[in-house]
Amino acid sequence: MKVAAIIVAGGRGERLGAAMPKQLLELGGRTILQRSLDAFTSSGLVHEVVVVLPAELVASGSVDLEYGGARVTVVAGGARRQDSVARGFETVSQDAEVVLVHDAARPLVTRDVIARTLAAAAGDGAAIAAVGARDTVKSTETRDGRPIVRATLPRDEIHLAQTPQGFRRAVLAEAIAVGVSGVEATDEAMLAEMAGHPVRLVEGDVGNVKITTEADLRLARAIVESERDEKGAAMAPRAVRIGFGYDLHRLVEGRPLVLGGVRIPYERGLAGHSDADAVCHAVTDALLGACALGDIGRLFPDTDPAWKDADSVALLQGAMARAREAGFEAVNIDVVVVAERPKIGPHVAAMRETLGRALQLDEGAISVKAKTNEGVDATGRGEAIAVHAVALVVRR
Ligand code: MG
Repeated sequence: MKVAAIIVAGGRGERLGAAMPKQLLELGGRTILQRSLDAFTSSGLVHEVVVVLPAELVASGSVDLEYGGARVTVVAGGARRQDSVARGFETVSQDAEVVLVHDAARPLVTRDVIARTLAAAAGDGAAIAAVGARDTVKSTETRDGRPIVRATLPRDEIHLAQTPQGFRRAVLAEAIAVGVSGVEATDEAMLAEMAGHPVRLVEGDVGNVKITTEADLRLARAIVESERDEKGAAMAPRAVRIGFGYDLHRLVEGRPLVLGGVRIPYERGLAGHSDADAVCHAVTDALLGACALGDIGRLFPDTDPAWKDADSVALLQGAMARAREAGFEAVNIDVVVVAERPKIGPHVAAMRETLGRALQLDEGAISVKAKTNEGVDATGRGEAIAVHAVALVVRR
């Protein structure tokens, strides 16, 4: 029996508020979309997969997918979910007898759930994976602008539909025809029901979560991080990352000395386009490095007059904001300041406080250590101050 799967990834993920479409967010080392695709191609149950993506992603060619043991085609979706499924169905081979439809936003679907849905669809014409309601279910209405319970529904009759949903080819064709006629549907089973086909339920999986909100994404990451192989080793790489930063500025007359946002009384200061705060610069580069977001020179070029005499604490805050946008949170930083003169030690507490505020970290997560260079090299002769920093970040 020939089996096709349509993976629908039409949504733009606005509810997740991320800078990229949610299907391209990372989940344990693979994108959400890649995980959904892999679930089908590696199942050994499916001969071809059609991935339906938002038209702009198909046009920009910005989606990299690795194909497994099935033929994979990528097509552009339509305005509504049902339009995307219809587009995908046009591409499915004529000889596919059963077609599974799956939300790309459910990357944790198991082979068992796919197999159960497929078997029931082949036998009965239409089938969906679903889980029984575990909470008490209330139907509601709005009275005087407030939600009021209308009735308590018999819980054993309530099931929450998941995907995959499977159909014999002719049944899905009829369901799509109902959808094209103007009915708005939230899943294909609803259209099959309207076309008069009984839809069989098979047991879904509570772990087969649909990633719609930030909380769903956190839950999915927790599930992925808890997965262990048969030897008990973690299956997903921990989303902990480290970055390293280094900076050096010459000490010159007529400049203030600013390190870690703290103005230090001294007869010379660091030369540079901005305030030349080498501590903030090294920490910024460590942070950007941990997130693979480039470096301080690329983000805040010294050819740009906007950064002339800039407060480098603000640059650090800007880098932290970019890190957050990319989904990272700082865990701790460690800084080594190499300076022959002046003495840095008395200013360490103030630097930790300023850096902590910029990164929204506890002072306990900020370490600043001072070293001399034992009179060796330019730093040892007091001609420059050098700073080394590491930063640890985790994915939120
Ligand atoms: Mg610098």
